[in-house]
Amino acid sequence: MFPAIFLDRDGVLIENQANYVRDWSQVEVFPEAIVALSDPKLDTYKIVVVTNQSAVGRGIISIETAISINDRLVGVVRDRSGRLDNAYICPHSPDDDCDCRKPKPGLLLQAAEEMSLDLKRSWMIGDAWSDVEAGHAAGVRGTIIIKTGRGEEQLSLSRPKGNGNYFICNNLSHALKTILEFDNVD
Ligand SMILES: [Mg+2]
Ligand SMILES: [Zn+2]
Repeated sequence: MFPAIFLDRDGVLIENQANYVRDWSQVEVFPEAIVALSDPKLDTYKIVVVTNQSAVGRGIISIETAISINDRLVGVVRDRSGRLDNAYICPHSPDDDCDCRKPKPGLLLQAAEEMSLDLKRSWMIGDAWSDVEAGHAAGVRGTIIIKTGRGEEQLSLSRPKGNGNYFICNNLSHALKTILEFDNVD
């Protein structure tokens, strides 16, 4: 079994857009994040994107579009010698009451099963409390909220109770360094 680093997408790897990321032309990657994913020390982890895309459930974009945006993002990361091993999408709207929309842990659990991941040695990084909560619900080792995307705003809001522990980091590269230090990877 492999440890994983689960990453939220919007606000972590690319900019949030006010009215959803609807096609590739609206994707603005964070260069810092892409560079961070090329660190060879990450080789012991599977890097897995877990993203809520309610724009699909709301009928704003198709599931095919959502998948193709993720595929192209994976391609951009790989072109720059970085790694993203897989991407899981929750396509539902909040009204669907599914098991996979974060803060629920469904995407992480599905990935764990399909990719042989050891959740107890895994981490979740996101820019929202719902990411942190999804990580806790899945039983990961650690969670990190970062200040890019919606992070600063989320940190100024009241923090959910019973939330367990989390680190606060400036951006993805800071978060990944924190994980490598905590796990003593060198
Ligand atoms: Mg986000
Ligand atoms: Zn879902």
